[in-house]
Amino acid sequence: MAEDQDFDVIVVGAGAAGLMAAVEVADAGASVCIVESEDEVGGSTRLSGAYVTLCETELQLGSREELLEDLLHSHQDDCQEDLSRLYVDEAPGTWRRLDELGVKFVRTFQFAHMSKPWAHELSGESMGGGAEIVACLKSALMKRGVTLLTSARAVRLMQREQRVTGVEIEKEGHRSKLHARRGVVITTGGFTRNVDLIRNFGRPGSEMILPMTGEGSRGDGLLLGMSMGAGIAYMMAGIAPTAPIDEETGKGVMAVYAGAIAVNLAGHRFTRESDLYIDLCWSALRQPKATFAQIYDAPMRTAYADTMMGKVLTGYREIEAGSVPELADILSRDFGFAADALVDAVAEYNNDVASSGIDNRFGRTNLVGTSGTLRQLGSAPFYAAVCRPGTTHFNGGLSIDNAMRVRDVFGEPIEGLYAAGEVTGGFHGAGYMSGTFVGMALIFGRLAGRNAASMPHGVAADE
Ligand SMILES: Cc1cc2nc3c(=O)[nH]c(=O)nc-3n(C[C@H](O)[C@H](O)[C@H](O)COP(=O)(O)OP(=O)(O)OC[C@H]3O[C@@H](n4cnc5c(N)ncnc54)[C@H](O)[C@@H]3O)c2cc1C
Repeated sequence: MAEDQDFDVIVVGAGAAGLMAAVEVADAGASVCIVESEDEVGGSTRLSGAYVTLCETELQLGSREELLEDLLHSHQDDCQEDLSRLYVDEAPGTWRRLDELGVKFVRTFQFAHMSKPWAHELSGESMGGGAEIVACLKSALMKRGVTLLTSARAVRLMQREQRVTGVEIEKEGHRSKLHARRGVVITTGGFTRNVDLIRNFGRPGSEMILPMTGEGSRGDGLLLGMSMGAGIAYMMAGIAPTAPIDEETGKGVMAVYAGAIAVNLAGHRFTRESDLYIDLCWSALRQPKATFAQIYDAPMRTAYADTMMGKVLTGYREIEAGSVPELADILSRDFGFAADALVDAVAEYNNDVASSGIDNRFGRTNLVGTSGTLRQLGSAPFYAAVCRPGTTHFNGGLSIDNAMRVRDVFGEPIEGLYAAGEVTGGFHGAGYMSGTFVGMALIFGRLAGRNAASMPHGVAADE
């Protein structure tokens, strides 16, 4: 048994939410230990492009009220509204805090469902946006002398007199106890890799969704919370595909937003590719074998590589050919696509774009949402990426109040237990706006750290 240790606050999971929480605890003058189950920090955050939805910043002057309206619309007016209000109220301060910590956004982007370009982007010059946020926050932790334990998985929470008093961890085959005088903050990310939870809470067929998330997205925090009697929120509504993935490499690809069209195994287009990627993926789940190909040409490939999505979603298998019929033949031979129908689908789309600038079959008018002008697939070489619906995250998780306290099944706060980030449910409810997952992790992680640090010392942790 390794040595037990005492801290004011224990943070479980070192993604955006956990790193942000730990920095806040340290700056409040409390002692903090952050544990991470993997050998590297960052979780899904590190893999992400880190578009972050914020308002009233130097790059986006749009107001809280405007963002709130957009958020509630994206959440299909079915969410825990106090959390949406809290998000917009805390967004400007979080922008300033991130700037202080070295996170420098350089531009904004407008996704479908956004009335303004709310999504803030990092430069992406030396690394993906998520990796940059993680690097900045990790460096802030190190400067503050925070104790970071990697390859240390939280396996149980400890409780005494109805209060959570610490965490039992497993590191290199040994178990030890970390006692928390003020509180434990769960920031373990999502449950996209936990097939049991998906089967129990998702719609039939949801287990077909391929995860492209961090290895630690096992739902540990959800189970730890539930073991203390935590309530859960919006689990079923939140289990949805969010990104097309190449099954062979496990890499995501979104060439459709650079102009590609999506065709199913029958060689037919099946959706309006400019729609929110979640809607694109739900449509794809209903196609034969849930399989489709994104078809694009050389200029679209170059344009895609220049976007943040194109910088982060790379490394997928790409099929190249000198002409559309040649590409269709390869797709037919190697993957079973109907070649003639596929050639016809490309020709029909090109004709529509050439004659009216609009796709008549599904009413696509832009590349993404209401941005970008449609292009024909006209310049060789031509490419295809064969994919299935995958996911970058799920909504739904531990029920929290607006102090980030985990609520029990009766809605009462569980003493000493906080949560933030993808492990929580309620903020997104039944819908989702791009940039709000990293946003939620940063904004609510910050609050969870601050609130846990300010709690009075609890009962002596003597388990
Ligand atoms: C490819 C990709 C692109 C994305 N792009 C965007 C985007 O542009 N904008 C956006 O808003 N969202 C995006 N998302 C979603 C977003 O990245 C995540 O929802 C968000 O980063 C989650 O942050 P988190 O801190 O809650 O969890 P994570 O970043 O996943 O961190 C959780 C950490 O907890 C650790 N952990 C788990 N269990 C334990 C345990 N028992 N003990 C100790 N540690 C544990 C994990 O290993 C992990 O490091 C994307 C996701 C992916 C995969």
